[in-house]
Amino acid sequence: MIDLPLKELPTAVVVGASHAGSQLAVHLRKSGWQGRIVLIGDENFLPYHRPPLSKAVMSGSKDAESIQLRPATLYESNQIELKLGVKVTALLRDSQQVECSDGERIRYDRLALCTGAHAIRLPLGQGLRGVFYLRTLKDVLAIRAHLSEVKQAVIVGAGYIGLEAAAVLRGMDIDVTVLERAERVLQRVTGEQVSGYFSELHKMHGVDICCGANVTSINGEHSVDSVRCADGSIFPAQLVIIGVGVVPEIQLAKDAGLVINNGIEVDEYGLTSDKNIFAAGDCCSHPAHLYHRRLRLESVQNANDQSRAVAVNMIALTEKYQAVPWFWSDQFDIKLQSAGLSQDFDRTEMEGSLNPADRSGFIVRYFKEGKMIAADCVNRPKDFMAIKTELASQLVQADRLSG
Ligand SMILES: Cc1cc2nc3c(=O)[nH]c(=O)nc-3n(C[C@H](O)[C@H](O)[C@H](O)COP(=O)(O)OP(=O)(O)OC[C@H]3O[C@@H](n4cnc5c(N)ncnc54)[C@H](O)[C@@H]3O)c2cc1C
Repeated sequence: MIDLPLKELPTAVVVGASHAGSQLAVHLRKSGWQGRIVLIGDENFLPYHRPPLSKAVMSGSKDAESIQLRPATLYESNQIELKLGVKVTALLRDSQQVECSDGERIRYDRLALCTGAHAIRLPLGQGLRGVFYLRTLKDVLAIRAHLSEVKQAVIVGAGYIGLEAAAVLRGMDIDVTVLERAERVLQRVTGEQVSGYFSELHKMHGVDICCGANVTSINGEHSVDSVRCADGSIFPAQLVIIGVGVVPEIQLAKDAGLVINNGIEVDEYGLTSDKNIFAAGDCCSHPAHLYHRRLRLESVQNANDQSRAVAVNMIALTEKYQAVPWFWSDQFDIKLQSAGLSQDFDRTEMEGSLNPADRSGFIVRYFKEGKMIAADCVNRPKDFMAIKTELASQLVQADRLSG
């Protein structure tokens, strides 16, 4: 760092200490930022990997410490000041300061918003013991502490997180019912073949999957005892996990008058409508040439890759962020890996077996106007890597065409 009193040093403040924020702070130092870096997060843990929450942490095969993104010493050795358990309550853009819940105001030269997303809350079952959301380590530790009382569980929502939680609970010999309002599981993120496969996989393991189920109440006196649907069906449960999606955390940005457009709007450099404020990760949407539209992604790949580019751009605007989106999900002993985005496909090609008992897996490739736009691979890691490379070469072409 430059040898100047703390107050006079150029200062980069990063709000949100998770995948995007932690990566951004570390990469900013690696990229040559010589001033202060202050990383502020409102959770009380060192930045941690979120994906294991619905997998190994929930099952108990990993503990909180083993999912840390980086050891505490790495932040120290990179002279990154970590302020944990502290919420940024306001952005004061005129004076270039952030206001923190501990009363401190910190001046910034460059600010990065990595505020992520939070679980959508339903107006059901509030205050009942045994009703949980699944976004943070605190949520999962609370679920784990409750598990000894559970024989029957209901998962509301059959997205990735709901299905991963269902698989873990079933592995603990708990009776699990998944209630999904849509006509099929994973409807928002994949095509019918993959949805059908995961329904069958869960049924094969004894999970009760109910689609077209509209949950109207979550009942109990002090603790939850049942969930009721619009058609009158009642499902007994001592544990309910609600996983019906997330919304980007935009309040700070919105209150400060930044442009919002499906999350905080950023350009290809990760710059918001304020030239000193950047954003990365789940909280923002960016222009994606490959898809000819803006995207707001909810994945570790996007949080990591975008925040690396933004770290460079906080020093000088040189790195446009364009990447092939990819994602994975682990359910029972199955690994799904997806590359690209399959929405709007007009044709699919299928290779392998959709029978869940056949562990050799399959690939579904999605095409639009003759061009592959995405693929879902089950237990096919080598094919997944090859497909990712193919999509990346399309991206380079699309980038060239966009100038
Ligand atoms: C259970 C679960 C399983 C998942 N599994 C996968 C998977 O298998 N593969 C995959 O690719 N992705 C997975 N994801 C998604 C992935 O974890 C997210 O895309 C990723 O965490 C996004 O990182 P982020 O840093 O942008 O946001 P977040 O991880 O949401 O972090 C934002 C942080 O900012 C903090 N914050 C917000 N506002 C403020 C404020 N005002 N002041 C201070 N701090 C603030 C939040 O508390 C949070 O700690 C999973 C997510 C969950 C919840």
